[in-house]
Amino acid sequence: MATVLVTGGAGYIGAHACRALAAAGHLPVCFDDFRTGWRDAVRFGPLVEGGLLDRAALDAAFATHRPEAVMHFAALSLVAESVAHPERYWRNNVGGTLNLLEAMRDAGVRRLVFSSTAAVYGEPDLALIPEHAPQRPTNPYGATKLAVERMIGDVGAAHGLRAVVFRYFNVAGAAADAEIGEQHRPETHLIPLVLDAALGRREAITMNGDDYPTPDGACVRDYLHVEDLADAHLLGLERLLSGGESLTVNLGVGRGYSVREVIERARAVTGRPIHARLGPRRAGDPARLVCDPSQALTDLGWRATRSNLDQMIADAWVWAQGPGYES
Ligand code: UDP
Repeated sequence: MATVLVTGGAGYIGAHACRALAAAGHLPVCFDDFRTGWRDAVRFGPLVEGGLLDRAALDAAFATHRPEAVMHFAALSLVAESVAHPERYWRNNVGGTLNLLEAMRDAGVRRLVFSSTAAVYGEPDLALIPEHAPQRPTNPYGATKLAVERMIGDVGAAHGLRAVVFRYFNVAGAAADAEIGEQHRPETHLIPLVLDAALGRREAITMNGDDYPTPDGACVRDYLHVEDLADAHLLGLERLLSGGESLTVNLGVGRGYSVREVIERARAVTGRPIHARLGPRRAGDPARLVCDPSQALTDLGWRATRSNLDQMIADAWVWAQGPGYES
């Protein structure tokens, strides 16, 4: 069983990874500065409070906990913010990861599981996007993640770092028992906002454009259950611990839903009227991003098992009505 430093371990996805690591008998050490993370979500192992731009905090985390591997989630991840403030994204995502890689090199830690994104692909003209699709990001968020992928490749070649890079499509849902779930400050993600509208915490959900070249004019995304995502991270870690080679794979379901369809399913699952109105397109949004997940099955034995859209909305709905939400 391994000690794993989890950067961004207090964030939505990082916390679910910590929970899965602990359930599998590993020790997740959460490294987070709480700029976007939640103190309540740190409950599966020790905490080191710090940010990636603080090299001394990283060195101290490696010296104190001597992890065998790193799972790297800490990043800024909002498409629209990245268009408005690209320099923040380059400093935090690329500069921060450079610090992390140097700290790993100096501490002799050579296993990394990295959260990348489908945003590296930009807007491919493909029904299902495979890993070899051209990488042409349409926003700075995707560009910074692609830059980090390349940096990991270069550092790996020079210093023997092995990395499993996961390109996530859209992540949704909450822990099955609603112990932890999704929340952001401010919230910008579709499903939490739709559920806020269902709860009356906001008046309506605004659809970001309806003139995309998709069947109903709304953007189409591939939604993946956060617990399926966490399982993939365990498999990636096990691959590295057992000496497996570096790998880059997509994580998604292979089925897309439009914004309109998500709102419709949320009305059905919650039984609440959810008022929707039309707004402008969001800068940097590709029309359609749907995963070809076949390589994850071939190379890792992973496939999504809980990622039915109704199930993801139902799990997020239980969480959104519980005591941990907006804590
Ligand atoms: N979206 C929307 N209204 C909102 C929030 C999101 O129409 O209030 C759309 C967004 O433009 C995108 C999809 O929902 O097409 C998923 O957005 P989200 O921010 O959840 O994830 P992203 O695709 O940016 O990773």
